Amino acid sequence: MINLSDTSIALAFDRQHIWHPYTSATNPLQCFLVTGASGVHLKLEDGNSLIDGMSSWWAAIHGYNHPVLNSALEDQLHKMAHVMFGGLTHQPAITLGQNLLKIVPEGLQHVFYCDSGSVSVEVAMKMALQYWSSLERTSKNAFLSLRNGYHGDTWNAMSVSDPTTGMHHIYHNILPRQFFVPQPKSIFNGEWLEEDILPVNEILLHHHNEIAAFILEPIVQGAGGMYFYHPEYLKKVRELCTHYNVLLIIDEIATGFGRSGKLFACEHSNISPDIMCIGKAITGGYMSFAATLCSSNVATIISTGNPGVFMHGPTFMGNPVACAVANASIDLLLSSNWQSKVQAIESQLITELDELKQLKAVNDVRVLGAIGVVEMKNNVNISDINSQLIRLGIWLRPFGKLIYVMPPYIINTEELSQLTSGMKTIIKNLN
Ligand code: PMP
Repeated sequence: MINLSDTSIALAFDRQHIWHPYTSATNPLQCFLVTGASGVHLKLEDGNSLIDGMSSWWAAIHGYNHPVLNSALEDQLHKMAHVMFGGLTHQPAITLGQNLLKIVPEGLQHVFYCDSGSVSVEVAMKMALQYWSSLERTSKNAFLSLRNGYHGDTWNAMSVSDPTTGMHHIYHNILPRQFFVPQPKSIFNGEWLEEDILPVNEILLHHHNEIAAFILEPIVQGAGGMYFYHPEYLKKVRELCTHYNVLLIIDEIATGFGRSGKLFACEHSNISPDIMCIGKAITGGYMSFAATLCSSNVATIISTGNPGVFMHGPTFMGNPVACAVANASIDLLLSSNWQSKVQAIESQLITELDELKQLKAVNDVRVLGAIGVVEMKNNVNISDINSQLIRLGIWLRPFGKLIYVMPPYIINTEELSQLTSGMKTIIKNLN
């Protein structure tokens, strides 16, 4: 344990100089000092331990400090931490490619490694643009996207995230202008409403000559509202994209690797995209790493057009340590009974959160796979909730009207109950 004065000096420095996600530099939300993490537990400097309900933003699916991932990382470290990917290759990147192609939707054949989810979205968008420019269809240079969607914080990723409700509305007037269609009203497990697809048809009918690709999150819209839509919508989107000759980019960065109950959420609709982004849980939450995959058609057109090469190449592309950990994480996932674990989490979340639907302050309770969401009627005050959560020994990160949980898959029944009863306590206090 760090002694108290060291702790307060460290926290004071952090508060004054270190910028945290989505916060003010001068008046930040309180941060808690973590000294270690193991399994589903985050250890704080004061000796308290929290049950993690966030999987570090969808990523830590196997929990923290996993011996298998640790040893994959250490083994690779002793061989080489990094080597440039231009003109050189290595076994961890090759094995990862082989592993990914075995599990991703049919038709995806080429893998481009990148540094983070947002970068993989940039890469996907550049692939779509370069595809059409190779075919000398340069007018197809805009994107279609879904309202309430979220695709990352870099410039083009922001441009296809929701322009008003998203976190990027302040840049709206200077971001590239894209096309948007409304969020489908048909919910997962609800009735399919055919009118949901009409705006997509309308826009594609009139603007397919300007649209390079439709980009959307499959089934689960994450940071834009934790909303689960009907699988039929994605199926129809696939059909319309094919019909109007528009590429389909699926952003599986949050949903990939089992979170929604399928290995990839687009399996709920049984479709394959032309381009797919994956990230977050790819390394089991160990480090930033992502990939953009595409079909042979996309790769071939880009590679046979002008200039015939894909113009992207990050310095840390295909980092061997990240690839080695990703390989270990995928092996671990596939050799575990992840589907029954995610199903068990889903059933327990449904059983334990359902009673919250009765509360006046609650708008909706929804669960899909290992994701449980309580949508309040009003925005919640995160700093008030934060300290209550810490007292209850749980870690959640609510935003807007949403108090939600997406734990590591290794969580046991008692630990998950502790999370849901903490959520209930907080929500009842808000009622
Ligand atoms: N797309 C989706 C669906 C995401 O949830 C996120 C991350 N919240 C991103 C893209 C961006 O990923 P990263 O934070 O790794 O850049």
